[in-house]
Amino acid sequence: PKYTIVDKDTCIACGACGAAAPDVYDYDDEGLAEVVIDDNTGTAAVDGVLEDDVIDAHLGCPTDSIKISDKPFDGEPLKYE
Ligand code: SF4
Repeated sequence: PKYTIVDKDTCIACGACGAAAPDVYDYDDEGLAEVVIDDNTGTAAVDGVLEDDVIDAHLGCPTDSIKISDKPFDGEPLKYE
């Protein structure tokens, strides 16, 4: 399983992640992405088909704002950087 969180400080609201993983990412009123399954805290484990979608979203984000890890982020996008 993977954990994922969006760094909203660097997201440019391009819309790619929601296309790659619509069950995981959605957008706020400003169009900035966020993880919908855990209030963008990076604490919900994602596995199976969704894990593949999350990896695709991570690889496709033009600003490296989609963070993924094998461990929870606890609300901190830059926890493992
Ligand atoms: Fe933001 Fe990256 Fe998603 Fe684009 S792909 S909306 S830059 S998080």
